[in-house]
Amino acid sequence: MEQELETLFEAQKLESMIMEGEQKLLQAPRRLKQMEDELGAVREKIEREKEIIEELEKERRKKEKELEVEKDKIKKLEVRLYDVKTNKEYQALLKEIESAKEANDRTEEDVLVLMDKVEDLKKDFEGSTVQLKKLEKESEIERVAIEKETRSMDEVIAKLTTERDNLLSVVSENLRTIYGILREKRGGVAVTNVKHGVCLGCNMNIPPQLFIEVTKNKQLIQCPSCNRILFFREND
Ligand SMILES: [Zn+2]
Repeated sequence: MEQELETLFEAQKLESMIMEGEQKLLQAPRRLKQMEDELGAVREKIEREKEIIEELEKERRKKEKELEVEKDKIKKLEVRLYDVKTNKEYQALLKEIESAKEANDRTEEDVLVLMDKVEDLKKDFEGSTVQLKKLEKESEIERVAIEKETRSMDEVIAKLTTERDNLLSVVSENLRTIYGILREKRGGVAVTNVKHGVCLGCNMNIPPQLFIEVTKNKQLIQCPSCNRILFFREND
């Protein structure tokens, strides 16, 4: 029995390694998706920044065009100053020119503000572009590493599974069945060590008398709390 229990204990170790590997395999696509999402977010941000810059540039060009038209108008009004007949007309024209110039000043101010904004946004845009390039490079390196790890993990799991099955094939059918049921019901852990009178599967105390029996590894003893097969190995 001792030999069989020990074999089960070793099979359980392989089982746990297989589970760990499978967990890693599950994480790989999640991480890849996460990386894609991160890249997508930065690309979207850059796209938005670009759009805003284009919009502001368009507005600036529009205002500059307006300014040209208005300046032309002022020139024509100023020419007309020489033609007016009355002082009243002259004053009215002068006032018109004055307010047109004031409006132009405001437009020029707007143009300058727009230029400032665009300049700032372009800096942000350039920063984001550098960030994207860096992220793309890092993501690619990580993706290659993950794919490589996934491939080797597949091989490792296959090897461990064969080793586990080989071990299980030499224990009695009865033990193998119990092992299989517990593995299903107890999150993949059917056999567990005991330390200081505590089952390491569920962390519950084992009655002292039973613990003494467990340490002998002479018979099949299951934890009174979690039902797992108990095996004692001091330094493990
Ligand atoms: Zn237990």
